[in-house]
Amino acid sequence: MKKITIAIDGFSSSGKSTMAKALAREIGYIYIDSGAMYRAVTLYALRHGLIAPDGTVREEELVSALPDIKIEFRYVTPGEAAHTFLNGEDVERQIRGMEVSNAVSPVSAIPAVRHDLVKKQQAFGAAKGIVMDGRDIGTTVFPDAEMKVFVAASPRERARRRVEELRAKGRDVSFDEVFENVVSRDRIDRSRSESPLRKADDAVELDNTGMTIDEQNRWLLDLYNQRSQS
Ligand code: C5P
Repeated sequence: MKKITIAIDGFSSSGKSTMAKALAREIGYIYIDSGAMYRAVTLYALRHGLIAPDGTVREEELVSALPDIKIEFRYVTPGEAAHTFLNGEDVERQIRGMEVSNAVSPVSAIPAVRHDLVKKQQAFGAAKGIVMDGRDIGTTVFPDAEMKVFVAASPRERARRRVEELRAKGRDVSFDEVFENVVSRDRIDRSRSESPLRKADDAVELDNTGMTIDEQNRWLLDLYNQRSQS
C-alpha cells in the first residue's frame, strides 16, 4: 500500500500525541513528536541561562547556539515510543516537566528556531510513512500531507488529562498550575506571527472532549483506512 504523510495538529494536551503514537504503531509508520523538539531546545536554553526568571528569552544567543543543539529520537524500551535525546543525553523526563512547559511557547515563537526545526521535521518525513504531531504540521511542515487532523477539547478537560498524566509519572502538580499553563500556551501558540496554531483548511477536526482513548484511536484508524485507499 502506498505510504502517506499524516499531520496531527491541535491544542496543548488535546490527546493528539496519544492518538498519533497509537496510529503509527498500528500501521507501522514512524512517529515524530515535534513538540518534543521545541521542548528540547527550551531545555537547552534553560540550562545555558538563556531564559531569564521573568521568562524573557535571550533570543540572539539562542539562535546562534542552534547549530550546537542536536536532537534525536532513539528507542530505549522495546514496545515504547522513542525517547528524545539532546546532544546525546536522554532528556525525555526533563522535557515534560513544568519548568520546560512554562518556557516552551515563547521559545517556539522565535522564527529562526521554527525555521531550524521545521527543516529537521521535513527531513524526517522525506520518505513519507510518517505520523507527526504538533501545531503547524498540516499548515507549514507538510502542507501537502494526504491526511490532516486538527484535535480540540475543552481547556478544563485538557488540563484534567495532563494532571492525570503527570501525577501518574510521579509529578506533584496542581490542577490550577496546569490549567493556567494550558491556557497560556494556547494563547501564545495561536497569536505568534510565525506559523501560528490554526486548523489547516483541508484538516478534519476532531473534538474528543467526551471520547475515550479507544474511541479516538478507532476514529483515527478509520480515517486512515479511508485516506490510504483513495
Ligand atoms: O506538543 P507539546 O505540547 O509537547 O508542545 C510543546 C510546545 O511546543 C507547544 O506549546 C508549542 O509552543 C510548541 N510547538 C510548536 N510547534 C509544533 C509543536 C510544538 O510551536 N509543531
